[in-house]
Amino acid sequence: MTLIIVMGGLVSSFLYALTQSDSISFLTRRSRCDTCSKHLKVTDLIPVISYIKNRGRCSYCRAAISVNYLMVEILTIILFILPLIVPPSYDNMLLYYLLVSILIPLSVYDFDTLLIPTHMLILLFVCGLFLTGLEFMDTGVDLMSVIILHIFYILFKDKIGYGDIQLFSILTMITPFDFFIFTFLFTYIIGGISVIILDLFETPRITKVPLVPFIAASLFTTFYLYADFIDIYYGGF
Ligand SMILES: [Zn+2]
Repeated sequence: MTLIIVMGGLVSSFLYALTQSDSISFLTRRSRCDTCSKHLKVTDLIPVISYIKNRGRCSYCRAAISVNYLMVEILTIILFILPLIVPPSYDNMLLYYLLVSILIPLSVYDFDTLLIPTHMLILLFVCGLFLTGLEFMDTGVDLMSVIILHIFYILFKDKIGYGDIQLFSILTMITPFDFFIFTFLFTYIIGGISVIILDLFETPRITKVPLVPFIAASLFTTFYLYADFIDIYYGGF
């Protein structure tokens, strides 16, 4: 349990640094302060604890450190230990941990910037195909999904980013087909409801939505409700 928590914290802060970087410089990035560029001590790099200890500031120059680091670390740790407490009904744990590790940093980054870095999508694609051993790669069905996703993009160009289409296209190749369909539909149900609720409170109206947090939320819900979805889908009425 402790090991999982430590792993979650370390993996998430490393991958969040990777998400933000546009080159190999991420290797040193996390160990330097963004403002004063001082090399941070090991005690400043402990996930969650360092952030709280330094009250969200650099221990040298006292510049505020983005709360995103803390968010990513806490969310990843929670999702890392959750399966130990409540096992998901779709129990491909390699895929689960891969998706948590990559999609949590990506969600926070997308929420913050409305951008989805291509190198993270490539990482997900390569690791996903490798970990699933091409098990869910079904050329005909996947090709059709990708084409439909692109038609969807052409129709709703101003509402949906191309990065989201790329992410969905990758997911269809690294997850079972029905798993993908549930995730896709659920993204629009959760996303749609949230946007309607937010629209009630916020003016001006939201025009562009960071979709990755909704895709991630749907993915993890699908992991837990997969058996129930299958029941309903295949005639459990
Ligand atoms: Zn500093």
